[in-house]
Amino acid sequence: MIPYGRQSLDEDDIQAVTQVLKGNWLTQGPHVAEFERAIADAVHARHAVAFASGTVALHAAVAAAGLGPESVVAAPSLTFVASANCGRYVGAHVALVDIDPQTLNIDLAQIPTEAEAVVAVHYAGLPVDLAVLGTTRPRVVIEDAAHALGASTPDGPVGSCAHSDMCMFSFHPVKAITTGEGGMITTNSDELDHLLRRFRNHGITRKPQVAEWYYEVDDVGTNGRLTDMQAALGTSQLSKLGRFILRRNELADRYRAELAKLPIVLPPEAPAGWRHAYHLFAIRVQNRGHVYAQLRDRGVATQVHYVPVHHHPLYAAAAATDLPHTDEAYQGLLSIPLFPSMSDEDQTKVIEALHEVV
Ligand SMILES: *Cc1c(COP(=O)(O)O)cnc(C)c1O
Repeated sequence: MIPYGRQSLDEDDIQAVTQVLKGNWLTQGPHVAEFERAIADAVHARHAVAFASGTVALHAAVAAAGLGPESVVAAPSLTFVASANCGRYVGAHVALVDIDPQTLNIDLAQIPTEAEAVVAVHYAGLPVDLAVLGTTRPRVVIEDAAHALGASTPDGPVGSCAHSDMCMFSFHPVKAITTGEGGMITTNSDELDHLLRRFRNHGITRKPQVAEWYYEVDDVGTNGRLTDMQAALGTSQLSKLGRFILRRNELADRYRAELAKLPIVLPPEAPAGWRHAYHLFAIRVQNRGHVYAQLRDRGVATQVHYVPVHHHPLYAAAAATDLPHTDEAYQGLLSIPLFPSMSDEDQTKVIEALHEVV
């Protein structure tokens, strides 16, 4: 079965992890600091703070931003539920917003005026054009870039926070690079960097001026730490990011060329001068249930990204109005296999299977 996505690990990635296991330091240590520096440099951000997952990274971001029960946090409905749940963790009201049918990204014009924050998801790896927010920008802008490590706009790499306060990356195995589980927040704010690090470590502040061993707790933090083994894997993986994104774009270009004549909708392209990270290649088909089953019978696994958040019972009350573009896209969305270690032969199989089935 050809999966829709999977990790790409080489012998040197494995070596990087086993080296750490032979040392003294297993949890957050020098390899975490090195990985944070490497990500910050790669995306042109001042700070990067590593977390145990992208989900806990988002939790830390909303907490560091000072959001709480009085806050309204806007998020697109066409996303993984973690993008919305982060608001709920701090008791905020989550307002689910429709997508722009051209980009499948959040329609920034529909962010409610009372929203104090927005979680902008770069769906499939195509960056949201945050530059257009301008003066209508909510107080807090958090990018959910779980799909978009390696993407860029004319304002710089995603993660440079040119138009945001913080940007989250995930290192789950299907994402651009992996640490098994893991996440990162980048920011240019010294204050947010401090609050994120404190949140990650139980809200603890060390007070060596009192005594070497003394510390105080100022905040309800958590244990959100990444391990040094994972960080070593992350640094090793990051050295291959450029190659991974090139391969993803190459596979996407071939899909576009060879699927162009089928009665399907191809995913939106990045504008000239932008780089798409192609975390997903999500086509839209008629009669999706049939296509999904027929592809599976031919050894091609696909996935639906996503069941819209407002369809989940937990969020039944969160969509103020209908979200017609989200519902319309959801009808047909189907992510077909795309990952850097996918062979040309496997891609041929996927293309042939689609020609038979659609
Ligand atoms: C993967 C993902 C997350 C969560 O990241 P984890 O590292 O799996 O916790 C959040 N948002 C989106 C859009 C994702 O795809």
